[in-house]
Amino acid sequence: MTSANDDLKALVRTIPDFPKPGIQFRDVTTLLLDGRGFGLAVERLAATVGEAPDLVAGVEARGFILGAALARELGCGLLLIRKDGKLPGATIAEDYALEYGTDRLAMHVDACSAGAKVLLADDLIATGGTALAAARLIRRAGGHVVGARFLIDLPDLGGAEALRAEGIDVASLIEFE
Ligand code: AMP
Repeated sequence: MTSANDDLKALVRTIPDFPKPGIQFRDVTTLLLDGRGFGLAVERLAATVGEAPDLVAGVEARGFILGAALARELGCGLLLIRKDGKLPGATIAEDYALEYGTDRLAMHVDACSAGAKVLLADDLIATGGTALAAARLIRRAGGHVVGARFLIDLPDLGGAEALRAEGIDVASLIEFE
């Protein structure tokens, strides 16, 4: 079966056994290298957003790339959610489990005003641990997570469903089983 974003899916490279055995790493660097594909990906994701949010929150590191482009396309600001220990101002932090390990995310405590509508962005959602930690941070800072956008969803890992269970509107362009 062909679908609307097969052209973009063909630009994603799969690297087996990275960063550890058994992981099929979906490498978006090959899509980013293609100017037309990168532009189309941003336009198509932006088209899934109804009312523009106040901020797009990009999750380090590949989420910064997509988040920045999406923020420009939607005409709103960019909130950086970083690995802990990188941001210079006062931060709040949340631990999370990855498909391959654990880590801690942080954001500036004053990065969003109370009630700000925030759209999360990352390259890929797998278990949803990263996005859920980012959503907890935004909520703790007073923001309202209105949605989450990803280039790639791995539906078998249940992350998108976990976000939807929290009332977050989720969309992505490409699925890998
Ligand atoms: P998760 O927290 O399980 O939803 O994992 C999502 C985060 O881990 C994203 O920031 C992805 O960049 C990265 N990630 C997890 N699994 C993969 C994969 N199979 N290929 C590429 N990136 C992945």
